[in-house]
Amino acid sequence: MIVVMKSGTPVIEIERLSQEILRWNIIPEKCVGVHKTVIGLVGDTTALNPQEIQKLSPFIEQVMRVNKPFKRAALEFRNGEPSEVLVSTPNEIVAFGQNYPIVSVAGPCSVEDEEMIVETARRVKAAGAKFLRGGAYKPRTSPYAFQGHGESALNLLAKAREVTGLGIVTEVMDTADLQKVASVADIIQIGARNMQNFSLLKQVGAINKPVLLKRGMSATIEDWLMAAEYILAADNPNVILCERGIRTFDRQYVRNTLDLSAIPVLRSLTHLPIMVDPSHGTGRSEYVSAMTKAAIAAGADSLMIEVHPNPSLALSDGAQSLTPNQYDELMQEISPIAQIFGRWSKKFPIPTAYCALPMQQMAQKV
Ligand code: PEP
Ligand code: MN
Repeated sequence: MIVVMKSGTPVIEIERLSQEILRWNIIPEKCVGVHKTVIGLVGDTTALNPQEIQKLSPFIEQVMRVNKPFKRAALEFRNGEPSEVLVSTPNEIVAFGQNYPIVSVAGPCSVEDEEMIVETARRVKAAGAKFLRGGAYKPRTSPYAFQGHGESALNLLAKAREVTGLGIVTEVMDTADLQKVASVADIIQIGARNMQNFSLLKQVGAINKPVLLKRGMSATIEDWLMAAEYILAADNPNVILCERGIRTFDRQYVRNTLDLSAIPVLRSLTHLPIMVDPSHGTGRSEYVSAMTKAAIAAGADSLMIEVHPNPSLALSDGAQSLTPNQYDELMQEISPIAQIFGRWSKKFPIPTAYCALPMQQMAQKV
């Protein structure tokens, strides 16, 4: 259930109402929007009567039930306003969300050695990426395949972060590694295979780090949003959803089917920012460019693209990795496309006037 307050409601009235709600053993979750404040009621609200709540204050505009199994992730929970995930990187604060430029995350599937990761970081940064991705712990189908260099790879990511100032996105597979991963990652990735690892979701929810939640390869949109709900329910509001392709019947020509229709569907259901990963989504480097452009047109807020200095020698996912030159070319090609869809990329920095409000919000949040 949500309580939408009228614009201009005094803060003291919102506080008074929140105290009242707390007395019913319901948690009031306040969301301050651009025009209005919404109080989300978290807990068992079945016995509550919206009409009775409406009478509690003349400043209440509307009381509504959220008729979805996911509550905090629901678009209604923020009265239709998109949320933003703000991530502090060494160079800048980067915002993911519908009101911000498209954010590019790029790098190899796995961190292989210092030279390759630092060099890839430099190249993707020069092309316009804001984050370096790279796996230290790799979820591989075969136990005999390269499993990632683990902790030593985390140290190499830290080095690349230090040298380039890029933020780091890397996957955690096991709760036992969470603290180590969190000490290096600016965004913690939950991979497709762990999307419904509920104990892992609860634990990443409990730490104060943004989370990139990839869609399970056989997950419905509702399964995915319920997985996000686990993280939000553990009090971590900074969740980005990543569409990375689902299993369909054709595996001969593509590794997965990139479900771009998930983007408008998610937009109608959730306020959370959306990322698209056309690399895992297709499994083939030659299709990455077309699907990246399509993802922008469909409304993606951010992109994750695998880049390797020498894809034919990659220890994992070489077939779907772009070379740094191909990545640079792609970034140049998407720049005008992002502009057409009202989403600036590297050549179109956020105008200062546009920055004013979000930057203030960032200062309070970070
Ligand atoms: C990855 O990002 O390298 C990865 C393993 O992704 P996914 O979980 O989407 O397969
Ligand atoms: Mn990969």
